[in-house]
Amino acid sequence: MIDYKELKVIGKQTGFTHIAPLDCSTIQLLPEVRQMCANNTCHMYGKNWSCPPGCGTLEECEARVRQYTYGILVQTVGNLEDSMDVETMMETEAEHKKHFFALEEQLRAKYPSMLPIGAGCCTRCKECTYPDNPCRFPDKTFASMEAYGMLVTQVCQDNNLTYYYGPCTITYTSCFLLE
Ligand code: SF4
Repeated sequence: MIDYKELKVIGKQTGFTHIAPLDCSTIQLLPEVRQMCANNTCHMYGKNWSCPPGCGTLEECEARVRQYTYGILVQTVGNLEDSMDVETMMETEAEHKKHFFALEEQLRAKYPSMLPIGAGCCTRCKECTYPDNPCRFPDKTFASMEAYGMLVTQVCQDNNLTYYYGPCTITYTSCFLLE
C-alpha cells in the first residue's frame, strides 16, 4: 500500500513544488505526441537513447507503462521575470532534473522495480552514444513523459494536478510509476 502522505513529504524535501498521486490507468500514450517528437522541433529526435526512436516503439513503451497501477506526479514550478526569461527557464529545468535524480535514488530502495519518467532528454553524458554504441548508464537514463507518448496536460488534468500556475511561471513535470 502506497503511503502518499510520506511520499509528499519526501518529494517536498527533495525540492519539488508539487507532488500528487498518479493513477496509472489514466495514462494515455498517444501517437500524435510521438509524431511531435518525430517533427524534431527540439532537435533531439534520433540523437539520444532516451528519445524516440531510441527509447522504443510506442507499443514497447505501452507494455512498460501497463505493468504499473500506482505512481506519483512531481513538479517544479519556476517564477519568471517575464515571458522571455530564458535563464530562469533553464535554471528551473536544471533544478527539476536535480530533484528528479535525488528522489529516484531515495525511492529506488523501496520500489526497486519502479519506472521513473522524466522531463526532457537524458543529459547524463556530454555526448550520447546513440546510435553506434549501447547506453553507458542503462539503469540511470530516463525517457521523458513526451517520449513515452504522454500529453503532460492530460495526465495532470486526469489526476487533479494543476499544470499551468499562471502568467510568468514555468512548470516541469515528471512521474514515477511505483507498483
Ligand atoms: S546515459 Fe549517456 S549514453 Fe545513455 S542515454 Fe544518457 S546521454 Fe545517452
